[in-house]
Amino acid sequence: MIFSKKEEIVTPYTVEQCNSCKAISKRKFIRGDYVFKNTEPCKSCDGQTLIIKIFGETS
Ligand SMILES: [Zn+2]
Repeated sequence: MIFSKKEEIVTPYTVEQCNSCKAISKRKFIRGDYVFKNTEPCKSCDGQTLIIKIFGETS
């Protein structure tokens, strides 16, 4: 988990983009995710999907 201030919980999210159709999807961060990691094939075109961004949102 990522904490910004004391007792303020930030939920980490992962943004993935498909190399072929450029579709972007956002999902909750999963342990082991890092930027430029290849993830599961694209749901729409079966292309290679890459993590382009990881960020935190206060809930
Ligand atoms: Zn795609």
